[in-house]
Amino acid sequence: MPADEEVGGAETLTVADLVAWLDRFDELCSTNVSWLTELDSAIGDADLGTNLTRGTSALRTTLHDDAPADAGDLLHRCGMTLLATVGGASGALFGSMFRAMGKRAGETAQLNVGGLASAFEAGLASVVTLGRAEVGDKTMVDAIAPGVAELTARAARGEQLEQTLRGAARAAVAGRDSTLPLVARKGRASYLGERSAGHLDPGAAAASLLFEALTVHTTLTHHHTTALTGAPMSTIRRQFVNRPDDVIAEALDGLQRTYPSLLAFDAAANVVSRAVPASGKVGLVSGGGSGHEPLHAGFVGTGMLDAAVCGAVFASPTSEQVQAGTRLADSGAGVVHIVKNYTGDVLNFEIAAELVSDDGIAMEAVIVDDDLASHGAHDGPGRRGTAAVVTVEKVLGALAEQGADLAAVAAAGRDVVGRSRSLALALDACTHPGESRAAFELAADEVEFGVGIHGERGTGRIPFATADELVEQLVTPLAESLELRRGQSVIAIVNGLGGAYPLELSIIARQVHRLLNDRGVSVARSLVGSYVTSLDMHGASVTFTVADDDLVRLWDAPVRTPNLTW
Ligand code: ADP
Ligand code: MG
Repeated sequence: MPADEEVGGAETLTVADLVAWLDRFDELCSTNVSWLTELDSAIGDADLGTNLTRGTSALRTTLHDDAPADAGDLLHRCGMTLLATVGGASGALFGSMFRAMGKRAGETAQLNVGGLASAFEAGLASVVTLGRAEVGDKTMVDAIAPGVAELTARAARGEQLEQTLRGAARAAVAGRDSTLPLVARKGRASYLGERSAGHLDPGAAAASLLFEALTVHTTLTHHHTTALTGAPMSTIRRQFVNRPDDVIAEALDGLQRTYPSLLAFDAAANVVSRAVPASGKVGLVSGGGSGHEPLHAGFVGTGMLDAAVCGAVFASPTSEQVQAGTRLADSGAGVVHIVKNYTGDVLNFEIAAELVSDDGIAMEAVIVDDDLASHGAHDGPGRRGTAAVVTVEKVLGALAEQGADLAAVAAAGRDVVGRSRSLALALDACTHPGESRAAFELAADEVEFGVGIHGERGTGRIPFATADELVEQLVTPLAESLELRRGQSVIAIVNGLGGAYPLELSIIARQVHRLLNDRGVSVARSLVGSYVTSLDMHGASVTFTVADDDLVRLWDAPVRTPNLTW
């Protein structure tokens, strides 16, 4: 195709033009992978670039190995591929967008301007329904909506295809740039509150590339990236890694080899399940991004989980993976999904639950949202899920083992979540596998307060102080939020985030006991160790669950998993 010819060379886009569009999208994503990752590391969890390019390169295989029958088939297959390969919030959202576009386009060999605009409208509607985001929330919608509006307006005016596509690309880029000053109200960035302003939204940046790819005149922009080579030596970290892409599969393989009598490993779906599946009980499935080990695979076994679904580092698993885990866990009594509250996880577990229910598996979900630092806007994603998920998995594991039915297990899960709160701080950020630099820098006299478990920044910085003083800043807000009263008791988790060593955690545990004691609150049971980590983050979290006799009995019930056994 001559360089100056518009896409399709005519007033319609053929199937071949659409394939060329998505090839260009892949090219643009690969060229800009570090830019996307950098944007996501500023206000998210630094995974968007790698996750998305995994998906766009899979699109090439999907589209070139087996020619699509028509435009609808092509777009639908792209949606399924993105759902299966990307993970995270963007995987679910872009995947659903393409599926909806395919459905609207239907069995047509080519799309004219109006047809394309209409397909994009259906795609946008699907993103808005799933993500509940509006323009101005600082999400991909801010780039997609103006791009689609421009397509529709120009189609209505009967403008030429090439002009229309260029106009849409310009509008999407302007929409992307409009996210710079905004405060995020959805997704992971919303946890940063005001600190999310001043950064472009990574999903909007990815969406703008999709529109830019519609024009053949796209120059493969190298957006600004900071060279890693400039990092001072003190921040360079080395790791025991073969290939960054193989980290999760190799680690799970190693875990299964260590516990062959407890665990089975489905390498195709990165699902760890019980070596001997349970029967006649409610199945329990949890999962999420990796990098939080031993969560969740280390808690598969009698008295706890039936299956753990493992995504890429800090990225939710895809809905396909969740379906695979759910089917392994089902023995006829239904399955409960235990989901940490992140947009990507919630969406992918929701989509999977819908698909397996169609096959007759009764489903319930328990959303864990214990992190006190992330109570944001009331219409935002809500509090994040962190270490209380271990308490939920333990208690529900015991209940399911005792033969409780699906509704009872789910109700108990929601009750435990309601009684649980966590709070964390970090002295040093974590470093992603294969990266040499930590996700953010802290000065020697600073502590990042209110961090989550995805390497992201917290709610603010506080001055460095003694262990006892720092722990008090965690315990006081937790006690107030749970309205802990004299005479009450809690199950406490003092959790290391990956880089805190056992001596430090015991010092923290000591102070937690002393502070609760001062309040007349007793520690009924506790765990002290690194159970829900954030790679090698040097930090700790404290979790309290208000306890009663029933809860303690379930806590004490036998459990046999790689990382929790009594
Ligand atoms: P995560 O790592 O948080 O699971 P990704 O890195 O895959 O998510 O994608 C992040 C992008 O997803 C954000 O920049 C934003 O554009 C988009 N996003 C997140 N939540 C929503 C939502 N509720 N609605 C629309 N878009 C969203
Ligand atoms: Mg991300």
